[in-house]
Amino acid sequence: MGRTVPRSPAQTKECLHCGRPFADRKRWASRGQWEAVHYCSVKCRAAARRARGPA
Ligand SMILES: [Zn+2]
Repeated sequence: MGRTVPRSPAQTKECLHCGRPFADRKRWASRGQWEAVHYCSVKCRAAARRARGPA
């Protein structure tokens, strides 16, 4: 299985929950929220919040 690592100009971060690298999305970039994004998906975001402690 050849795994190629694409070199994209887009910024990437590692999800604080699952540790997977993810790139910025138009949605975040357009709103300038990329710096505030710490999770690859809302799913991880929710899971991380739940893991931190029940509200
Ligand atoms: Zn994640």
